[in-house]
Amino acid sequence: MSRILIVEDEIAIAELEKDYLELSSFEVDIETDGRKGLERALTEDFDLFILDLMLPGMDGFSICKEIRERKNVPILMVSAKKDDIDKIRGLGLGADDYITKPFSPSELVARVKAHLTRYERLVGSEIPKNETIQIRGLRIDKTARRVWVNGTERQFTTKEFDLLAFLMEHPDHVYKKEELFREIWNMESIGDIATVTVHIKKIREKIEFDTSKPQYIETIWGVGYRFKA
Ligand code: CA
Repeated sequence: MSRILIVEDEIAIAELEKDYLELSSFEVDIETDGRKGLERALTEDFDLFILDLMLPGMDGFSICKEIRERKNVPILMVSAKKDDIDKIRGLGLGADDYITKPFSPSELVARVKAHLTRYERLVGSEIPKNETIQIRGLRIDKTARRVWVNGTERQFTTKEFDLLAFLMEHPDHVYKKEELFREIWNMESIGDIATVTVHIKKIREKIEFDTSKPQYIETIWGVGYRFKA
């Protein structure tokens, strides 16, 4: 399913766009602040951006320019003024399309579909997609070795990442500490399985809202750990 980020401060318009896009089975997020929108655009995995021009925090021109420096995905700019569209073109910000308000939502959906299809054809064979796993509010990018908790990136050490990724790849599977130790540290029972306990504790501090009531990594007393699906 393609994920779309709408950066738009007029909530009624944003919600209308979202409703129509969701009817076409897109997953849609809305950001009303420009700066926050850019931050999410750069740190999360979206397949297409719909940017309003006039926004609090940071305008659509700057957001478009910054996204384009880092990402290849389609960007649709939305503006209330026809003049702005000429300006966007003139600035060469790298936007893929421009729509003037008011527009019909079905036209927007048609354009989104066209750009996604074109983009997927273009890059589908060239750039292998990063391998990501998302379980509720926790998302990891195995290719980039990055972790986000409710949209905020957190820093993980190599072993913490390996352990978390392994557990997320096998949700609902109970692992003994010994098994996890062998899997991640790659040593046949040499060393201390308490290392596993220490690493689980550190991971929980980064991903859990309340470490005394873990939502993700459960302790199975007398056995080991299980990642809740
Ligand atoms: Ca606006």
